[in-house]
Amino acid sequence: MYFEDLSKEELSTEYHRLLARYHEYLAMHLSLDMSRGKPSVEQLDNANELLTNVTHDDVIDAAGVDIRNYGEPDGISELRDLISQIINIDSKNIIIGGVASLNLMFETISRAYLKGLANSDTPWSKLQAVKFIAPVPGYDRHFQVSDYFGMQIINIPLEENGPNMDLIEGLVKNDPLIKGMWCVPIYANPEGTVYSHETIVRLASMECAAKDFTIIWDNAYCIHNLYDDYTPEIYNVLDIAEKYGNPDRFINYFSSSKITYAGGGISALAASDKNLELLRETFSRKSICEDKVNQMRHFKYLKDLDNVHKIMKQHASVIRPKFEMVLDIFDRELSEVKTVHWTKPKGGYFISFYCRPGTARRVYHLCKNAGVILTSAGASYPHGIDPYDSNIRVAPSYPTLDELKTSAELFCCCVKLSIAEKLLNISSNL
Ligand code: PMP
Repeated sequence: MYFEDLSKEELSTEYHRLLARYHEYLAMHLSLDMSRGKPSVEQLDNANELLTNVTHDDVIDAAGVDIRNYGEPDGISELRDLISQIINIDSKNIIIGGVASLNLMFETISRAYLKGLANSDTPWSKLQAVKFIAPVPGYDRHFQVSDYFGMQIINIPLEENGPNMDLIEGLVKNDPLIKGMWCVPIYANPEGTVYSHETIVRLASMECAAKDFTIIWDNAYCIHNLYDDYTPEIYNVLDIAEKYGNPDRFINYFSSSKITYAGGGISALAASDKNLELLRETFSRKSICEDKVNQMRHFKYLKDLDNVHKIMKQHASVIRPKFEMVLDIFDRELSEVKTVHWTKPKGGYFISFYCRPGTARRVYHLCKNAGVILTSAGASYPHGIDPYDSNIRVAPSYPTLDELKTSAELFCCCVKLSIAEKLLNISSNL
């Protein structure tokens, strides 16, 4: 029998049982944080070689440049070559950035507003409006960049094989103010979706009214597999788009934040020659070059493609048990609740949980009240507004297994409590 189909009396008994359990959690005075997909201390410790691995012997890079001095604004060639192998794009099209790929994305949009990108007739800031497509749910910081520049965001549902392409094709064909879109093509944050080849080809080939329609191809999780038997192919979208006559359509972003150190890693961007020329101009006005010592540290630690995959397996061995434990608890506690569902990702950093519509904010609040901080309900939607008040992004990577067990069980208790409150019309002051 489903939870929602219990008689009023049965549900009331269940409500009081859940409430008693919730009070037990309150008495534990928990203080746990599952709000962001941060690597755990154990994962960070795996990369500790980065703290010491550059010595006097390493100061001259493969191109003969002294990494302690100005120069090589595109980044050291040995690391560009390695990133090229990881993301499957020619190294001549790659520029290494600083510690945040988000910064590269921000600077790209900033450039578009101030001066335009390849094929822009006018800077975007001169237009009466700029519209941008956002597959939802999606990455909150993408949406914050859009908000910062005052874009109108068009929500498009993210489905099993990527965003709904029929809707996108219909919109971009007719509206020249739709200037681009956000995409996380592999293990999308928070859904874990992997875009299919067909979706990618449709994005690359679709007819756009805006000549400078630009796809921010944020491949932050391209090698973040949880299982050995599922490793999505990383397509060279620059080549695919060129084949369809749209060589400048995609700008790719890569991040080592969840490979090495979060906020202390390296980022990279890959784009067409035309876009690279424009972006190089922008970057060169901001700084003479990026931190090549950090790039060398990364190259020495990452070494080669095989070793990068070995490092990713190490990460998976730490976080896979966490994902599996949370999913097991959800299965155990919630299999008889029919108005909730959740994703079972094969990689990335998140489980996307769908509460009974109209209860996600309540679940967030109940967990917070008991000392467990989740990502705010609605955070995965533009402007923080989930039209169904249903989605919560669960981030299992950072807490220890013990902490995670408590948090996940509390979460399930709150999910059911909030449904019981709704069905019994109870307004609680908790
Ligand atoms: N893109 C996505 C999809 C993310 O989830 C994150 C968060 N790790 C980032 C980019 C941020 O990466 P960085 O630290 O390189 O800015």
